[in-house]
Amino acid sequence: MILFNINMATILVVLILGHLLTGALIIAYMGKQDRSKAVNTFLIAKLLQPMGWVIIGLRGAIPSLFFVAVGNSILFVGAALELIAFMMLKNNYTETVKRAYTALLICCILVFIAATAYGFPENVRITFTSSITAILMVFPVYTLFIDKKASRLQRTIAVLYSIIIVFLLFRAVAALTINIGMNLSSTNVVNTWLFLLLYIAMLAGSTGFILLDKEKQDFELLKAASLDGLTNLLNRKTFILRSRALISLCVRKQEQISFLLIDIDDFKKINDMYGHFIGDAVLQDFANTLRKQLRDYDLFGRYGGEEFAILLPEADEKNVKEVAERLRSTIENSSVDIDLEIKYTISVGFCSITPKRETTIDMLYKICDQALYTAKAHGKNCCRNAAEV
Ligand code: GH3
Ligand code: MG
Ligand code: MG
Repeated sequence: MILFNINMATILVVLILGHLLTGALIIAYMGKQDRSKAVNTFLIAKLLQPMGWVIIGLRGAIPSLFFVAVGNSILFVGAALELIAFMMLKNNYTETVKRAYTALLICCILVFIAATAYGFPENVRITFTSSITAILMVFPVYTLFIDKKASRLQRTIAVLYSIIIVFLLFRAVAALTINIGMNLSSTNVVNTWLFLLLYIAMLAGSTGFILLDKEKQDFELLKAASLDGLTNLLNRKTFILRSRALISLCVRKQEQISFLLIDIDDFKKINDMYGHFIGDAVLQDFANTLRKQLRDYDLFGRYGGEEFAILLPEADEKNVKEVAERLRSTIENSSVDIDLEIKYTISVGFCSITPKRETTIDMLYKICDQALYTAKAHGKNCCRNAAEV
């Protein structure tokens, strides 16, 4: 059947060209940008793997020991670097993992060279190379599977690599048990399809890596565009955008919505007394402390300088009064501990309304700004309800 008539040399050539082409495309795409360590590691892998295959493919032209030992060692390093690049993208490449992979690689290469020098049969060497390549894949795949926040792309890559692990292990067992040739010159159906799988693995790995890198960059960009760099809270623009959906939801459900405008008291004095750096730490402490007091679906954003906004969907006047007072007293009773203990307070203006279709966050802001002004005028460290000013 024509489908099973796959030519080994063709697979090898497209495999080599595929690795090189991926590398060239990545360089062309990212040429002028600052390439991350993960991308550079991946590029080295894309150079080493075709090198390894070329050396192995030159079988017969160079002495046997050389092509087997050097070619396979380069392939080991290439495969490991490709997986390391994946782990770097996921921030899983810790010092311990680095040490483990380096030790494993050195051991494998030494064992492989010794096995070749001592004339171990080819099928044993094939079992060894396949098992080691599968073992190298296990950790990165495992980390993708256990990551609850892994995207659909990451899970798909994990599944693809799992399939490759299964086939590599199958090859390892088959080399020992089935009496058919499994090296580059063996043209039996099992062997050609296993090599075809290597080509598919190269495609999946390359496309997967590029998409994963893009996904990470998109995430960083989105984060930089929507969050405040100092406090990691929503910035004003994002807060306003997201508030629209929450207001609409409360309009539909005929539920009340509450808004709080918070300003740190005498913040200028903190800056003047302790310096800007400590002032920044106070802002971060404030954000972290209050975040813990809110529900997952409440909106919390930095409106500017030391002014913050909170939108509480489905919260009525009684609720918002309680929340405002709780936040104020939490800050009053806490302190920032950076070499010295710093205490500070906040003032809060709040309101609660049943929103209409035309209600905007700007309207709520204006109402609460007036209430906040009254709180400041009444000695600060207090909360004022816009309905009562
Ligand atoms: P009030 O109690 O009336 O609110 O007085 P205040 O001193 O808190 O208010 P004012 O508006 O006079 O001063 C706010 C200060 O906040 C001035 C500005 O330098 C400082 N500030 C704004 N953004 C930052 C920041 O990101 N980091 C630091 N450290 N300070 C900031
Ligand atoms: Mg202030
Ligand atoms: Mg202010």
